[in-house]
Amino acid sequence: MSGPIERVVIVGGGTAGWMSAAAIARLLGRTVAVTLVESDAIGTVGVGEATIPTIRDFNRLLGIDEEAFVGKTQGSFKLGIEFVDWLRPGHRYIHPFGTLGRDTQTIRFSQLWLKLVQEKADAAEDALGAYSASAIAARLGRFGRPEANPNHPLSTLSYAFHFDAGLYARYLRTWSEARGVGRVEGRIVAVDRGGESGFVRGVRLEDGSTISGDLFLDCSGFRSLLLGETMGEPFVDWSHWLPCDRAIALPCASAGDLLPYTRSTADAAGWRWRIPLQHRTGNGYVYSSAHLGDDEAHRRLFDTLDGAPQGEPRQLRFRAGHRRNLWSGNVIGIGLAGGFLEPLESTSIHLIQTAISRLMLLFPDKSCAGPERVEFNRQSVLEYAQIRDFLILHYKATERRDTEFWQQCAAMTLPDSLRHKIDLFRSKGRLFRFQEELFSEDSWLAVLIGQGIMPAGHDAVADTLSAAELRAQMTGLRQALHRAVEALPRHADFIARCCAAPRSAVS
Ligand SMILES: Cc1cc2nc3c(=O)[nH]c(=O)nc-3n(C[C@H](O)[C@H](O)[C@H](O)COP(=O)(O)OP(=O)(O)OC[C@H]3O[C@@H](n4cnc5c(N)ncnc54)[C@H](O)[C@@H]3O)c2cc1C
Repeated sequence: MSGPIERVVIVGGGTAGWMSAAAIARLLGRTVAVTLVESDAIGTVGVGEATIPTIRDFNRLLGIDEEAFVGKTQGSFKLGIEFVDWLRPGHRYIHPFGTLGRDTQTIRFSQLWLKLVQEKADAAEDALGAYSASAIAARLGRFGRPEANPNHPLSTLSYAFHFDAGLYARYLRTWSEARGVGRVEGRIVAVDRGGESGFVRGVRLEDGSTISGDLFLDCSGFRSLLLGETMGEPFVDWSHWLPCDRAIALPCASAGDLLPYTRSTADAAGWRWRIPLQHRTGNGYVYSSAHLGDDEAHRRLFDTLDGAPQGEPRQLRFRAGHRRNLWSGNVIGIGLAGGFLEPLESTSIHLIQTAISRLMLLFPDKSCAGPERVEFNRQSVLEYAQIRDFLILHYKATERRDTEFWQQCAAMTLPDSLRHKIDLFRSKGRLFRFQEELFSEDSWLAVLIGQGIMPAGHDAVADTLSAAELRAQMTGLRQALHRAVEALPRHADFIARCCAAPRSAVS
C-alpha cells in the first residue's frame, strides 16, 4: 500500500491520546483526519500530575496561553523535586530545574564547585543547591519566570507545572475538538487486521460500528490493546532494576504553603510523592509488592498526609519496562501502552511528548516502510534506557540498608551504561550528556551528589584558579543568585495574581 496517510485513529483518551490528537491537529490537521476513540466506562489512569520543563515546548507548539492553562488545570509551578530520606533518613536535597552555577570560559561549574568543596573552603554536599536559582526559589517558596538576559542570575532558572491530570486531558480535548479532531465514545471489542501485511485496518466497538484508519496510535494505557495484544510486541521487563510495581494514589486537602516543587520521600519499600495543586494536594506511595503489603502501603501513605483525604484511595499496578518495538506495522504505542517508568523524575508525560515529536519528524506514508520505523524504535528504546539509568541511580546510590528492599537495591548489578557513568564521575567528577539524553550534566550532578557520590578529585583545569579567586567568584555567584531570588514574589501570590483557577473549577 502506498500514498500519504489520510486517516489517523487514536485509541485512548488519556493524557497520551489527547496530547497526540492536539499535536497532529496542530501540525497535520489540513491533510490528515484524526479520530480518537475512548471509553468512559474504562476511564483513564487518572494520575500523572507532575511534569518537567520540556512540557513548555509542547504548550508553545499548541500556542497555549500559559497562565490560562495553569488556572484551568488547577495547576501550580514546579521548580524541581525535593528528595527526602533518599540518601539516609533525615537527609534532603533538591534536584532543581535549570542550570547550576556558571561555567567560566574554560572551566565547567561542576569542576569549580568540586574544587571548592574538596579544598574544604566551603560547606558540604547540599550547598550545591546554593548555586541554583530554582533550588533557592524552591526553598524560599518563591516563583518567577526566567530572565531573558543571559547575564541575569535568574536566566538560569527553569520551571514546569503540576496540574490535575483529569483537567489537563479535558483541556486538550476541548482544544483538539475545536480544531477538527473527531471523538468517538465506546469500548473497543475487536481489532480487524489486513491479511498479508498484518496491519490494523479498523477497531470495532461494542455497538457494532467500525472505525477504520491508515495509522493507529495505541494510547490505550497499560493494557496496550493494539501494540501488545494485537501486534504481539513483547514487553522488555526491567523490574530487576526498578522493583516497584504498585502505587496507591490518594489526594488530600491543601495544607500550608503552596510549595513550588514536588516532594519525593523514600520509605521502607519505595517512596511517596507529594504534588501541590491549587485545589488539593496529590499524594501517592510507589512500592514493591514483594516487600510491602497493600494495606501497609496504604497505612504508610494515609499516616503521612498533611490534609484531610479526598475520595477513595486508588490502587495501580505496573511493571517497569517497554514494548520491544514501540512502532510495529502501522501501530505506534504512545504513553503507557508503549512502556512505563515509575514517576520518580516525572518523565512519562515527557516520553509521550518525545514520541509525538519523533512521529512528526518520521511521519510515514501508508506503507509504514522500514527506515522510519527502525529509527523511531531505535530512538525510543535508547530514551527509555537513558531515563531508566537515571532512576536506578536514586535506588542504588544510597546509604539506606534499613529494610530488605533497600538491601536488595544496594546489591543489584547495574546496567553497564550507568556503571560507566558513575565510574567516570567518581574519579574526577566528569559528566557527559550522551546522545541527546534528556537529563543534563547538571541533573546528573545534582542527583549524584545528592545521593552521596563524591568524586575523588577534580579536573586539573580547575586548579588554574587560585583558592582565593575561586572563593571570591563562588561567593559572588551565590550572593547574586540569592539576592535575585529574594526579589521574586511568593509562589502563592504569583498564582493568585496571574493564574488562579476560575471559581467554578474549584471542587
Ligand atoms: C502511579 C503513577 C503516577 C504517575 N505520575 C506521573 C507524573 O507525576 N508525571 C508524569 O509525567 N507521568 C506520571 N505517570 C504516568 C502518566 O499517568 C501517564 O503517562 C499518562 O497519564 C498517560 O496515560 P495514558 O494516556 O497512556 O493511559 P490512560 O490514562 O490509562 O488512558 C487510556 C485510555 O484508553 C482508553 N481505552 C483503554 N481500553 C479501551 C478500549 N477497549 N476501548 C476504548 N478505549 C479504551 C481508556 O478509556 C483511556 O481513555 C504516573 C503513572 C502512574 C501509574
